[in-house]
Order: sequence, then structure tokens, then C-alpha cells
Amino acid sequence: MTISRRLFLAASTAAFCLPVQATQTMTKSVFTLGVASGSPRDNSIVLWTRLAPDPLHGGGMPAGLAQVHWRLCTDPAMRRLVAEGDVMTTDHKAHSVHVTVQGLQPGRDYFYQFSYGDEDSLIGRTRTTDPNATHARIALANCQNYETGYYHAYRDIAEWAPDCVVHVGDYLYENSARPPGSFNYGGQFANIPFNIVRPHTGGETRSLFEYRNRYAQYKMDRDLQAAHAAAPWIIAMDDHEVQNNWAAMTPQDPDRQTDLEFAVRRLAAFQAFYEHMPLEHPPILKGIGSELQMYGAYRFGPAQVSLLDTRQYRSDQACGDPFPFGPVCEEMQEPSRTMTGADQEEWILRTLKESTAAFNVIATQTWFAPYTYFSESGIPGVNPDQWDGYPVQRQRLLNALSETSNPVFLSGDWHCAMASTLHLDPTDTTSPRVGHNFAATSISSDCPWWELMDRFRGQNDHVAYLNGRQRGYLRCDITGKHFTGTFRTVDNVWDASSQVRTATEMRTSDF
Ligand code: FE
Ligand code: CA
Repeated sequence: MTISRRLFLAASTAAFCLPVQATQTMTKSVFTLGVASGSPRDNSIVLWTRLAPDPLHGGGMPAGLAQVHWRLCTDPAMRRLVAEGDVMTTDHKAHSVHVTVQGLQPGRDYFYQFSYGDEDSLIGRTRTTDPNATHARIALANCQNYETGYYHAYRDIAEWAPDCVVHVGDYLYENSARPPGSFNYGGQFANIPFNIVRPHTGGETRSLFEYRNRYAQYKMDRDLQAAHAAAPWIIAMDDHEVQNNWAAMTPQDPDRQTDLEFAVRRLAAFQAFYEHMPLEHPPILKGIGSELQMYGAYRFGPAQVSLLDTRQYRSDQACGDPFPFGPVCEEMQEPSRTMTGADQEEWILRTLKESTAAFNVIATQTWFAPYTYFSESGIPGVNPDQWDGYPVQRQRLLNALSETSNPVFLSGDWHCAMASTLHLDPTDTTSPRVGHNFAATSISSDCPWWELMDRFRGQNDHVAYLNGRQRGYLRCDITGKHFTGTFRTVDNVWDASSQVRTATEMRTSDF
């Protein structure tokens, strides 16, 4: 009988004077969410894990302090030790662990592992940046609704083991669980099928407890864990980590939640995001508001990567935020409208000006290049959630690009792969070319508007590649002379055994 066996184990443990906790960790794993690293610098890296023996129900660790040991080595067998230490964590941060390891060598692979009691985590590989490297390999990922597909793309990223994964948001989706099965969207997208292959757990995420459980559900995926364990990540959230299409302190549905309710929800979402990401700093409370530092610049040899945060400080979407597009309206032209806030705009302009890199990569959540749609009566329209809804600020950035060496914008959000040129007048391809925009398709989120995108392709002649039918990610291979974007796509995101292959490769050269 099981009970007497357990009693026997407990009794024999007591006889050897081992702490009771040791027998508990032996029977129930605490490293259920894997490991991660991020914010890579030439001499430091942030390591992450979280203790969660009962991941879908708040984590399951007893309240109070827990001590975690970490080790960093130069070999995957964990024999050549570089640094190690102990760190305390508590239930106040959901027993998550963030360690910033300093004093490392540039451009080197490192391997790390956490231990709690007598249990070891899996071993992660990470890499410091090297400003003098001649070559950089970066994966661009975004939009990974757990319900609508498997994470084959992450398995492929793990096998590629790039210098860094840049994630531009929608790491999780807030929607409540939908029943499994085959559906279509109805309405204008009635011809487009989708599948719920593995339902969310629980209702729409609003509280800290619910966001934690949702992150835990996503992070239990083995392919996602493998991608985190294969390379350092830099990540800034987009909208679904809080709520669809939020902007600064404004929710998408101000009639359904008060300012205070949304401020509390946003803080909960920021806190849970921090607890599950290899970030340097936790959110800061500001009255009933909060702030989370997500934007920053990183130097990978020939490429400087500047990651923007275009949700936390942005002006609300113009003219009622019609979806998927609405007519170009006067409110969009308001000069004070911003995607980044004034401080971040000043920072990115200064960062680009001071950059000595051959390629200047600017990772922004939504599309930077325009995309023009037309109503049935021929009235031009745009998606007001993208940079098209903030044309005056976009023009300020475009004006600065002529002084910048090889600017390449990387985007996500629209679940549609895209490559385009950027022009000084963004809708006039006869005006000077000042840069490029590559967008990765989604890891697993579906794109019911892909037919709509295809329909207006001919009226968007700056667009060289467009693919909303397939899921995947973008590989960026950068030397001093070339930026090569390889669009990796999944054959069938609803089939757990599907393959990932190259859809196309686009190259831009020093210009
Ligand atoms: Fe998305
Ligand atoms: Ca989004």
C-alpha cells in the first residue's frame, strides 16, 4: 500500500537526519518551467528559473524563503566552473530567480544550471555579446497563442542556437479557454479555418494569480523551454501580455473596466512578465501606475539591436481603433501622438546617431512600413494599431534614418511575414530608400486576414515578400556587408509532428 511505503521513507529519512524537504523535492520536480537567460552584454548575462512544483495552481512552493544554487561553466558537461552562488527567492516573486552574472568574456558560450535541495534543473546554453564579432545570428520570434498551434518553430530555433532570440511580444494571450476542435472565424473571415489544438487553462487573465498560471502553462511546453535553454533572449511585451490593443493606461474596453481596475491589472501583468522572463529589473510602482524597463540596445558585432517598447508609453489608437483596418483619419496626423513616449524617442534617436555598427536593427512590435487597404468604395485605410496610425512620429524617425548606417526594422504583431523597403515618404517608392522592414510571421497565432493582405498586395509596391498563410519565425544573419533574412515556416502548425523549412531568403546589402 502506497501510504505505508511513504511512511517508511519518511521514517528512514528521519533516521538519517535529512531535512524533510529533501524527500519532497525528490518526489515532485520544482524545475517544471525550464531555464532561461537574457539581456546579454559583452561581460554579463541574466540567468532565470522559477521553482514551481504545481505550476498551474500558483506554483505550489510553500510561502517564505527558498535558497537556490546556480553554476556557470564553459562546457556543457558543467566541469569547467566560471562562477557559482546562492540566491534567495520568495513567494513575493513567485519563487522566480534572476541572477546577473558579471565579469564574463565577450563572444563566448557559457552553460548554466540551477539546483534546489538535491534537484538539478536542465542545463542551459547562453552567450555573451561581442562588439568585435564579424558575424551575428539572431532569431526574431513573436505571437505564440498556445491554443492555436504547436511550437515547432521553437524546436527549430533551439537547433539553430543563434547568438540571441529577439522576441517582440504576444508571448502569451489573455483569452479564456476555448474548446478544442476545428472552427472558422465567420463574418468577413468565414472561409478561413482554425484549430484549437490545446486549450488554455482558466478564464481571461486579470489577476496576478491568473497571469502566473498562464505563463506557467506556456512555459511547460518542451519546445519553448528548448529555445530558452539554447540562447539568450531579449524581449519586450506587446499587447496580449496585458490585454488586446491596450495603450499606456488605456484598456481596449474602457467601458468595461475602470482606470483603477486597469492600472491594477497592468501591474499584475508586468509583475508576472518579470517573474517569467530573464529581465534585469522588476516593475516599479508609481502611485497606482507602474513602469517596467523593456527597451534597450545590444551590440552583436556588425549589428546593433535596439529593442523598442511601443505599448507602455503610446497614445491611444486613433479614431476608435477599427480592425483590421479603417479609413485614414485626421486624428492620426496629430503631431503629439506617440508610439514610444518622448523619453524613448529621444533615446532611440541618440542611440542611432551614436551607433558605429554597420547594420542598425530596430526591433519594434508592430509593422513600421505602411500597408494600405481599400474599402469596397475605394477609400484607403490602415491598421491604426501599427505605425500607420502614428505617421508624424514615424516621419521623424524616417528623417533620422538617412544619417543611420543600414537601418533594418524588425516587426511582429500581424501574424504575417513581410519584407519591404522603407522610403523617406513611406507611401511613395520613388522617394529615397532609407531602410528596410522585415516582419516575422507568428510562432503559432493564426492570421485570418491573410486573404485580405494578399488582395491589396498590388497597391503596396514597397512590399517584396508577404506570407500570412504560414506560421514560423525569421532568421537574421548579419555580416559587415549583408543582412540576410531567412523566413522559416511550419508545414502544419496544427500537426504536432510537422516540419519546419525555409520559405524564402531575402538579402539586403550595405547601401
Ligand atoms: Fe499576436
Ligand atoms: Ca500584438
